[in-house]
Amino acid sequence: MVAARTSRTPTPPPRQVGPIVHASHTIEDWLALYWQKLNLPTQELGKLAITQDRQEFMHWTGKRLSSMVLGCYCYLPAPHHSQVGAQKRPRISSHLQALPVFEDALQLHLPSHRHLIFIEPDMQPQSIEVTVAHELIHLADRVKGTPRRHRHHGYDSIAADEAAITGYGLEELRRLLHEESMRREALRRTRRPIRYLYVCPNCGNQYPRTRRYSQSVSCSKCDKTYNPQYKLLLRA
Ligand SMILES: [Zn+2]
Ligand SMILES: [Zn+2]
Repeated sequence: MVAARTSRTPTPPPRQVGPIVHASHTIEDWLALYWQKLNLPTQELGKLAITQDRQEFMHWTGKRLSSMVLGCYCYLPAPHHSQVGAQKRPRISSHLQALPVFEDALQLHLPSHRHLIFIEPDMQPQSIEVTVAHELIHLADRVKGTPRRHRHHGYDSIAADEAAITGYGLEELRRLLHEESMRREALRRTRRPIRYLYVCPNCGNQYPRTRRYSQSVSCSKCDKTYNPQYKLLLRA
């Protein structure tokens, strides 16, 4: 299945002096601890926005967030100086002259890159902690200019760093990841229960579905390409 792409414009929250934290106090505490442990630069804090609300995160990033995702780091590059932006600048800077010096020194009025983080709220306390650490490792990579992609969640070099910084063993981290994923999957199932059962007339293989197939499909076990001989039949 290929989901429809939403290509909306990212709308991050307006910058403020400190980080934007739309999250629990626990998250705030883990954020402070791991920010320090990872030696992250203070000036990046003012570019950070963190939320536990999926809708808000999707609005900020302009991208879809799967219901299975437990945490997400999104780097927004500084917007290009468009024609409109260039025209706007003199007006904004004259307005900012009235602001206290310390705020102007942070140059909140200038376009800047942003660090956006989502943390799923409905998780065990240990999972909340390691997810905060995990997303901050992505942030640290980006600040260093060496972003990494996951080769295998829980088994790659990011997982090794996560274990080193949190003090959890790799096995423990994998167990947490597995438990939280199972939980998300179960939640998704209760929200979208399996209503349809398709069966192959040839081999009897069953295909449980939350929705009807929009076109006729055949059994992939009996033939890799569509074959009307093995067209699936709706049972329930
Ligand atoms: Zn990751
Ligand atoms: Zn079959």
